[in-house]
Amino acid sequence: MSVIVVGTMAFDAIETPFGKSGQIVGGSATYLAWAATNFVHNLKQVSVIGNDFPQEELDALAKRGVMLDGVERKKDEKSFFWAGRYHLDMNTRDTLDTQLNVLANFDPKIPDSYQGAEFLMLGNLMPKLQMSVINQLKTRPKLIVLDTMNFWMDTAMSDLEKVLQQVDVLMVNDSEARQLSGQFSLVKAAKEIQKMGPKFLVIKKGEHGALLFHENKVFYAPALPLEDVFDPTGAGDTFAGGFIGHLAATKDISFENMKTAIIKGSALASFCVEKFGTSRMKEITQNDIEDRMRQFVDLVNFDIELANSAVTS
Ligand code: AMP
Repeated sequence: MSVIVVGTMAFDAIETPFGKSGQIVGGSATYLAWAATNFVHNLKQVSVIGNDFPQEELDALAKRGVMLDGVERKKDEKSFFWAGRYHLDMNTRDTLDTQLNVLANFDPKIPDSYQGAEFLMLGNLMPKLQMSVINQLKTRPKLIVLDTMNFWMDTAMSDLEKVLQQVDVLMVNDSEARQLSGQFSLVKAAKEIQKMGPKFLVIKKGEHGALLFHENKVFYAPALPLEDVFDPTGAGDTFAGGFIGHLAATKDISFENMKTAIIKGSALASFCVEKFGTSRMKEITQNDIEDRMRQFVDLVNFDIELANSAVTS
């Protein structure tokens, strides 16, 4: 089952209470690809890079089965750059710098070889570019998932509203869900957002896990309590990559299967935060992922007597 992934391939400079990363490779599509390829192999990547983006990073992705025909290299320009600083809680961060560079005039072109993909993961990117990708697909994918952030709500809200009408699943964090809906209660926010287009909504709450909403149903998955969180950058994209990777691998887009997809995404995100950038994602094996899935099951597994123990008058 093939998946198109769209997003940034970038340089990041990250500051956490534990240190500074210097300039490292990041970007939403980079994390998405490393995560999703744990479950699916024919990933079709769409992005734009500058002259400065390391070839060995592309080679490493190609070795995992990522198709790069849709990654445009602009010879005389610099890659997208983002700098951020995490607060002491490691859950909140400030953006210090966003340099669009190659992204400023990016016009994604979907290669013919990408047509017919059944899953589309629109990683964090300008909403009008996310829309352009949808418009170029000759057949609508079975599932379209969109990730976005406050930056686009602040700078391109009307484009974002248009693309939201076209997608099935929206992924945002809790403050972004509140900003988008104008509602403080996440339950009310979920209702408002479902009226805007996406029938499924995933609200990420960092170290407090994630919520999945659909109609009147809600599912909650915790994040694994980790001894050390080193760098949360990319955790959201890694989560999204695991989510869509699992759905594509199982070819099942039901609410029930999305619950498993959320646990898989959470398991992968728990690795991502253990080191700067994508370094931890490059090390993990299928056994590591299975071990962590077991820890998730243990974390939330409990027996409780219900129903018949209720008091009757
Ligand atoms: P996450 O921590 O999952 O929200 O994703 C962090 C990644 O998103 C970083 O590697 C950045 O390069 C990338 N990023 C930051 N700001 C933007 C933006 N405005 N648009 C697209 N990608 C971004």
